[in-house]
Amino acid sequence: MKEKLKYLNNEIKGMALADSIPYIIKNFEGKKVFSTSFGIEDQVLTHYIAPYAEFVSTFTLDTGRQFNETYEVFQKTQNKYPNLDIATFFPEEQDIKTYVTSQGINGFYKSIESRKECCRIRKVVPLQKAIKGADLWITGLRAEQSENREHMDLLEWDEANQLIKFNPLLLYTLKEVETIINTHNIPLNSLYKKGYLSIGCAPCTRALAEGEPFRAGRWWWEDGKKECGLHIHTDKNY
Ligand code: SF4
Repeated sequence: MKEKLKYLNNEIKGMALADSIPYIIKNFEGKKVFSTSFGIEDQVLTHYIAPYAEFVSTFTLDTGRQFNETYEVFQKTQNKYPNLDIATFFPEEQDIKTYVTSQGINGFYKSIESRKECCRIRKVVPLQKAIKGADLWITGLRAEQSENREHMDLLEWDEANQLIKFNPLLLYTLKEVETIINTHNIPLNSLYKKGYLSIGCAPCTRALAEGEPFRAGRWWWEDGKKECGLHIHTDKNY
């Protein structure tokens, strides 16, 4: 596995998205999935994956707490890329009932444990269903987004999820991502221009003030790492 990853990383090193994405889709054997939350990075990836839609299972997680603007861009994306079938995964009804009964509808503000439990049932559990059986997961992670992501590779083994993660945008800057969006007229969440650079659930996302780090608007009432657990999941950490 190590050798295979090294080889593929070398092959796509320095390639533009228009080349690296089809290269991996054509040359990597195994089930490939792409997760989109309709953020700016995922929209760029959608544009390049859409021509190969039949070879990649695209999915989104509907937590039930998203902004209306996110559903709007979901619809616009389906309109622009009609061949792309975006599967939607939802939380388990019983998990939500149990959580709301014990923690309250907005229990995530009470404590970090309660917030992580909400992310677990609304995101991590549905994600596990979505990536079940997958060998390669295409993500919109960029090194610039957080210090946790600076040491990642374009392709790397994800021990927690037991698959390979492909991060085609890893070395792209936000400016470059914005240029691609504008050049190809790709649908963008209308909240983006209002300062929402990283968009998650509505109660847990606020706009960034000038100069704030990329993920400062997520769970802004908490200190420490701004992760929901989708990309750092282990049994004890989400
Ligand atoms: Fe729950 Fe907030 Fe996590 Fe969404 S981001 S799953 S509302 S805690």
